[in-house]
Amino acid sequence: MIVVLKPTISDDEILRIEQSIKEFGYKAEIVKGEARTIIGAVGNQKEKQQHMNLLGQLPGVEAVVPIMQPNKLGSREFKNEDTSFKVGDSTIGGKNLTLIAGPCSVENENQINEIAKAVKSGGATILRGGAFKPRTSPYTFQGLGEEGLKLLKNAGDEVGLPIVTEVLDVKDLNLICKYADMLQIGARNCQNYALLKEAGKSKKPVLLKRGMSTSLNEFLLCAEYLLAEGNMAVALCERGIRTFETATRNTFDINAIPVLKEKTHLPIIADPAHGTGYWQYVSPIAYAAIAAGADGLAVEVHDKPEIALSDGGQSLKPKKFNIMVEKSRIIANSIGRDI
Ligand code: PEP
Ligand code: MN
Repeated sequence: MIVVLKPTISDDEILRIEQSIKEFGYKAEIVKGEARTIIGAVGNQKEKQQHMNLLGQLPGVEAVVPIMQPNKLGSREFKNEDTSFKVGDSTIGGKNLTLIAGPCSVENENQINEIAKAVKSGGATILRGGAFKPRTSPYTFQGLGEEGLKLLKNAGDEVGLPIVTEVLDVKDLNLICKYADMLQIGARNCQNYALLKEAGKSKKPVLLKRGMSTSLNEFLLCAEYLLAEGNMAVALCERGIRTFETATRNTFDINAIPVLKEKTHLPIIADPAHGTGYWQYVSPIAYAAIAAGADGLAVEVHDKPEIALSDGGQSLKPKKFNIMVEKSRIIANSIGRDI
């Protein structure tokens, strides 16, 4: 339910309302809008109608209305304004598009430093790189672990970019939070509810990637696990889904962008690298995603993709990345946005 507060409400009254919501067994999420402040109360209490009536009588409350959409805190019903939030000094959401770029995996110091410099000069706003890798085969490179986190953080610090990296397992969460500015929850863990809950509690910004067979409604409810823990710094990432098509690694679901933009206020990032699996299709799909309304891109960049330890075939060389950013800017500008 949404508790709509009167414009004249005092801080003490807000505190009392929040307390009551929690006493009734709901999670409370306060959103200060331009015109109004509201509190979202989410939970599955049997006495909901009675609680709504009681909350409606508290001083400072203007109205209490139920949220009909299944994705409560992520829904436009709860918050119509687009969400934006900080990752380090970068902002995700809003007029300026986010450009997440870097190698699939952190491989060694020289590799990540060179790529960090290249993507920074090409216009990246967040540096990516995996240290804990979810590989299809257990016999392939699994990532450098903590060493990779250190290298990624140093590379980010050197060029002045915040970093995003994947968390595969709840047991690594605290360690990764020490280094990362943003957590990536990958396609394979999109519906790992235990991990989502813990990532939500960490309050770190999260890049949540769509599972390869996660429907959009399920995806929105995955995000809800993070939001329900009070973590509103969540970006959703379309990265392609499994279909009958085998010419590409995945099928980038362009529909996902306008559909998600309609259903949620959270920013939407497009990953045309995993979405296609081939470097030559990355830029065209990136342009399409921006035109469709994505709030940013996540792409893989490697200076020597031929010898990359993972996902070399879908990685752009720095020069190609620069060209993609230049052309993306033209498309972004044409729809009133910027990079
Ligand atoms: C990645 O970003 O390198 C990755 C493993 O992505 P996904 O979870 O989308 O497959
Ligand atoms: Mn990858």
